[in-house]
This record gives sequence, structure tokens and C-alpha cells, in this order.
Amino acid sequence: TQQVRLARRPSGLPGTDTWNVTTEDLPALGEGEILVKIDYISLDPAMRGWLNDVRSYLPPVGLGEVMRSLDIATVVESTHPDFAVGDAVSGTFGVTEYAVSDGKGVTKIDLGVAPGPTWLGALGMPGMTAYFGILEVGKLKAGETVVVSAAAGAVGSVVGQIAKANGATVIGIAGGAEKCRILTEELGFDAAVDYRGEDVLHRLRELAPEGIDIYFDNVGGDILDAALANLRRGARIVLCGAVSAYNDEKLRPGPSRYMSLLVFRASMTGFVVFDYADRYPEAVAAIAGWIAEGKLKSREHIVAGGVAQFGETLNMLFSGGNTGKLVLAL
Ligand code: NDP
Repeated sequence: TQQVRLARRPSGLPGTDTWNVTTEDLPALGEGEILVKIDYISLDPAMRGWLNDVRSYLPPVGLGEVMRSLDIATVVESTHPDFAVGDAVSGTFGVTEYAVSDGKGVTKIDLGVAPGPTWLGALGMPGMTAYFGILEVGKLKAGETVVVSAAAGAVGSVVGQIAKANGATVIGIAGGAEKCRILTEELGFDAAVDYRGEDVLHRLRELAPEGIDIYFDNVGGDILDAALANLRRGARIVLCGAVSAYNDEKLRPGPSRYMSLLVFRASMTGFVVFDYADRYPEAVAAIAGWIAEGKLKSREHIVAGGVAQFGETLNMLFSGGNTGKLVLAL
């Protein structure tokens, strides 16, 4: 089986020398194991963090190890009582064509509800992140004004649509006119700001003159500062990610407008989606319901190729090359 292993820890944007594409024989199946064929590999901004040798919510990927990834796969052999040949499953099998697993952390998925890529997007980890982030961490109430960054991405696009379905006014921030058009014309956002072409701070002031109740932050950096400058009293900032800084080689100065938290009696709360794992079924049911009612569109950006395309596909997340959930289809 072909696999992608971490060859060296990158500094800045991961280059081709970060990865080693190897071909290995898989071990024979033991008792209570499954052999899976990977169909779809999830590309996540968090992967960049897993390459750094630092303490985080998960241990870093070790040098020489198969790159960690969430995948959708098909069971092709099984000695496990809970899995049959042909089952569609989701699991952390890594960037590999085939994998042997003892079934721990592997979940069966129903391709009748949605196709495989959607189980990595709106019905997968990004959808869970959006759901618990906006509803539990953000404590969204109907009538509030929500701003979300990386709004045309996997998490952001679902955040905005869940907020709309719950009666909020939603403003998305994304890079480029085409992504902004998709937000307002296809995904039902009330407004969109193109951070590449517009002054975000002033556009937010025009679009939300009373201030923002929730800023769902996926990017950090200058856009976080622009949101801080436009809060409403009692605002909540949901710290989901800071993708604008993931490839930084040096720490940059913190948010220069953080005193807005004091002025507006606001809070900023970070969260990790894994802490809600026991409630994923609730979120899957709710999101599948909104999809069925036509209130939520799941968008996936599927790149066809082999595992060897992993490195260049991952970097699309940092250039904004993706619209919706970025998936590598093998
Ligand atoms: P996306 O699909 O949103 O892809 C990343 C997007 O980020 C790009 O498409 C790009 O869109 C935008 N981006 C990249 N660089 C910059 C930059 N310098 N400034 C502004 N925008 C930038 O990825 P995900 O939806 O998977 O992840 C979104 C965020 O959510 C990430 O920060 C991720 O780490 C976080 N996350 C957090 C979780 C948690 O448990 N806390 C779980 C899952 C994800 P554009 O063209 O608009 O620039």
C-alpha cells in the first residue's frame, strides 16, 4: 500500500521535502481486525499544527510515521464481529491507500444519508465543530448578528447556515469576490466581506452598525482585530482556529484590540470539538435534518488523485484554493 510519511518538520509552508511517499506491505489480518480501502482523505488546517513538535491537544505526528488523517473507507476484509465486508466506515486511518485496524474509533456511516465526502464535511468533524461552536460555545440566540471568518470553508460555511437556520443575521468574511457571491447567493448569508479586496473593519461597521454579537474566528490575525473593533455589549468570540498564523515562523504580536473585551463586557472562548464526541449523534441528526429541509447545503471541494498528491492538496487550505470541505478522493 502507498502511504505518506512525515520526512521532516517544516518551517513555514510545508514543502515537498516534508513528505515521503513509501510503499509498504500490510500485516496479515489478526483476530478482530479489519482491512479497509481508503476512498476519501480529509485535509484539515489542523494537520499543519500536528507537524510541529509542541504540546497540543493531540501529540505531534512522529518523524517517519504515516501522516494522521480522518478518512472514509470501505471494509474489504474482516475478522471483526461488528464490521462486514462492504461496510462504509469513518476513522483515523491516515494518508494511506489501505489500512489494518482493530476497529477502535472506527464508525460505520450510512451512504444512504449522504455520500462519503459529506461525512468528512457537514456531517463530519467540521460540521460537528460548527454545530457545537456556534450553539454551545457561542450560545447563539435568535435575532443576533453573527460574523464568521473563512466563511466559504468547511467549518465556516456550516456555521453561517446553522446560524441562519436559528434566526441570526449572518455576515461571512472570505477571500475573493467569487467566494462572497457563493455565500450570499448560494448559502443564504445576509452579507459577505471580501478581506482581500475590502477594508474589513469598516465594512463590518457598515453592515453591523449596532455591533456583532458573535464572532466565530477561524483565522485570527488582522480579521480578529477588525471584529474586536465592532463588538456589541456582551459579545462572544468563539476561538475555533487561527489559520492565518499556522505557517508563521515567528510568533506575532497578539490581538492589538483585545481591550474591546473589557469595553464591551465580551468573552473569548476556545474549544476543541473532540470534547463533544459523546454528543456527535445529536449534531449529525440536526445537520442531516437541515440538509433534508433544504436549509443547509453541504459543499465539498474534491481533488482526485493518489496519496502522493496529499502535500500539494493540503497547501490549498493556506492559499484559499478550496471552497467548502477539501477532500482527496483516491
Ligand atoms: P477551510 O475549509 O475553512 O479552509 C481554510 C480556509 O482558510 C481557506 O479556504 C482560506 O479561505 C482561509 N485562509 C487561509 N489562509 C488565510 C489567511 N491568511 N487569512 C484569512 N483566511 C485564510 O478549513 P476548515 O473549515 O477545515 O477549518 C477552519 C478553521 O477551523 C481552521 O482554523 C481550523 O484549524 C479550525 N478547526 C478547529 C476545530 C476545533 O476543534 N477547534 C476543529 C476543526 C477545524 P479564504 O479564501 O477565504 O482565505
